[in-house]
Amino acid sequence: AQSYVGFETITRQIEHKLLKRGFQFNVMVVGQTGLGKSTMVNTLFASHLIESKGRLEVDGPMRQTTEIKEEQHVIVEGGVRLKLNIVDTPGYGDQVNNEGCWEPIVRYIKDQYSTYLRKELTAQRDRFIPDTRIHCCLFFINPTGHSLKPIDITVLRKLAEVTNVVPIIAKSDSLTLQEREAFKERIRAELHYHQIRLYPIDTEEHDQDEIALNERIRSMIPFAVVGSERSVVVDGKSVRGRKTRWGVVNVEDERHCEFVYLRNFLTRTHLQDLIESTALNHYEAFRSKQLTALKE
Ligand code: GDP
Ligand code: MG
Repeated sequence: AQSYVGFETITRQIEHKLLKRGFQFNVMVVGQTGLGKSTMVNTLFASHLIESKGRLEVDGPMRQTTEIKEEQHVIVEGGVRLKLNIVDTPGYGDQVNNEGCWEPIVRYIKDQYSTYLRKELTAQRDRFIPDTRIHCCLFFINPTGHSLKPIDITVLRKLAEVTNVVPIIAKSDSLTLQEREAFKERIRAELHYHQIRLYPIDTEEHDQDEIALNERIRSMIPFAVVGSERSVVVDGKSVRGRKTRWGVVNVEDERHCEFVYLRNFLTRTHLQDLIESTALNHYEAFRSKQLTALKE
C-alpha cells in the first residue's frame, strides 16, 4: 500500500462525497390520466431500482391544493448511484375546461427554485443544499396521429419557459410505423410554427460534438415510446413487452419503438446536461429575476 495521495484516492474521495450526498436527478411527468406515465417511469427505472421510499407526504401550505406527488428512489446506472425523484402530476388535461390546468405544475417548479434560492442566500458557502429542482419534464402526448391539441401547445410553452421539457408520444404501439413517422414530423412542425424551443438548446459553451449530438436528439424528438411492466416471451426469451393485435411489441427493440433511445438520452447521454442546464439556465433566469425584483 502506498501512502501518498494519488489520483485514484482523490477520485474515490470525490466519489464518496457524491455518494454520500447522492447524485440527485428529478424528473417530472405531465400528461393525461391513462397515457402510461406511471408505467413508463417503471419501465425506465424499475430494473435499476435498489431502494424505494413509497410516496412521500408533500408538505407545505402551497401544495395542498394540488395533487402533485413525489416519489424517491435510489437507482444504479452504469455503476453510478443516483437518487431519483419522480414527480407525478395527475390530472393535467383531464377536465372539460382545462383553463389554467398548468398553473399548479408551473408553480411547483418555481417553488423548488425559490426554496433553493432561499437556502442559497442563507446557507454558508460550503453547506450542501438539497436539490429538488426539476431537471427534466417528460411531456406525454396522446397518440392520436393527428396533431397537438391547443392546450398541449399552451402547456408546452408554459413549461418550456421554466424547465427542460422532453415530449414523448405515449403508447405508440397504437400507431403503425408510417403513422408514427408522420405524427412525429407533424409535431415537430407545430413546435417550430409556435416557436416553442424545447430542450436541448445550444449555447456558446457547447462544442461541435455536443451540438451534433443535440441536433440528432432534436431530429428524434418526440420519442415514440411503449411502456410495460410485464415480461412476454419472444423466441423463448423473456422480454419486457406487450401483446397487441399484431403480435408482440418488444419495448427494448428499436425496430418496435424508441424506448431505448429515450432511456439512453435520459440516463446516459444527457443526464448530466439536464442537471447542469437546469442550474445554469432555468434556475439562473429565475434567480436573477427574483434578485432584481428584490432590489426594486
Ligand atoms: P397514467 O395514468 O398516465 O399513470 O397511466 P398508467 O401507467 O397507469 O397506464 C394506464 C393503462 O395504460 C394501463 O392499463 C397500462 O397497462 C396501459 N399502458 C401503459 N403504457 C402503455 C403502452 O405503451 N401501450 C399500451 N398499449 N398500453 C399502455
Ligand atoms: Mg399514474
